[in-house]
Amino acid sequence: MQFELRGVSMQYPGGVRALGDLSTTISPGVTGLLGPNGAGKSTLMLLLVGLARPTAGTIQLNGADLTGARPALYQRLGYVPQRFTPYPSLTVREFLTYVATLKRIEPKTARHQRVEQVLSLLHLEEVQARRTAHLSGGTRQRLGLAQALLNEPDVLILDEPTAGLDPDERLHFRRIIAGLGQHRTVIVSSHILGDLAQTCERLVVLEQGRLLYHGAVDALVAKALGSVWEMELPETQVDQVSREAVVISTRRAGDRVLVRAASLCPIGPGARPVEPTLEDAYIWLRGASVREGGAAR
Ligand code: ADP
Repeated sequence: MQFELRGVSMQYPGGVRALGDLSTTISPGVTGLLGPNGAGKSTLMLLLVGLARPTAGTIQLNGADLTGARPALYQRLGYVPQRFTPYPSLTVREFLTYVATLKRIEPKTARHQRVEQVLSLLHLEEVQARRTAHLSGGTRQRLGLAQALLNEPDVLILDEPTAGLDPDERLHFRRIIAGLGQHRTVIVSSHILGDLAQTCERLVVLEQGRLLYHGAVDALVAKALGSVWEMELPETQVDQVSREAVVISTRRAGDRVLVRAASLCPIGPGARPVEPTLEDAYIWLRGASVREGGAAR
């Protein structure tokens, strides 16, 4: 399924403009939604699942207007909010059965079967009798995804699913998400670049409610080709470089500092061009946006 956004803006009561004039198309596969805190990622997700309406513009899902609130469309969506909190006194199985009932999965045998399927898909069988209050962060996130998958949605929207997980849990979760994108439209937000780089085919980069980039991960990296440099400098010169280029990292090497920076031209006589990483490209992109006059609210 495909989302078409045309001129979408969102202003909260009180005047905060969380999104401004966003136009783009989100296609099947896994799309990462990237941006710093406050960039508008959660707001965009709320609009995509129909929990909020844009103050201007339109959102279509496969050509049908989402802002017209057609319940049949919402049946095809699954959503895991940022802080997913299941009822603590229910066990994992009880909670899934409860949500399956709310989602009107009928008759009872079909509901039971679907609960079994998602327990197995998310490797939750071992904890099915455990109260949700006693789950680890990673297991709770898997339960969040399990409940979203109960109605076999074509579209899955996951708001920061890997936040607060330890490295093993993150790895496990990333594998699951990548697998889900084979047959669905999956939109997953994060400000952790590594997580998105591993799971997503495409990235939507937001900054202060404005679209900075939408395209393939590789194409974003390619944009920074020829614009990332490294050089060793005395510490006293680092400030000077940061005025002329976007400093990505600094590392002390003896009495000098190894500076990695993004700039359209070499950052000094000893600068050597280096292969950009996704992180370089993202920092370069954000720096370019600031140089071009900043994101518009
Ligand atoms: P992100 O998910 O990228 O951190 P959000 O969509 O949560 O960004 O927030 C975008 C902007 O909208 C921020 O400035 C935030 O403070 C503001 N905002 C978010 N939710 C509300 C709300 N319910 N009421 C008022 N302002 C909000």
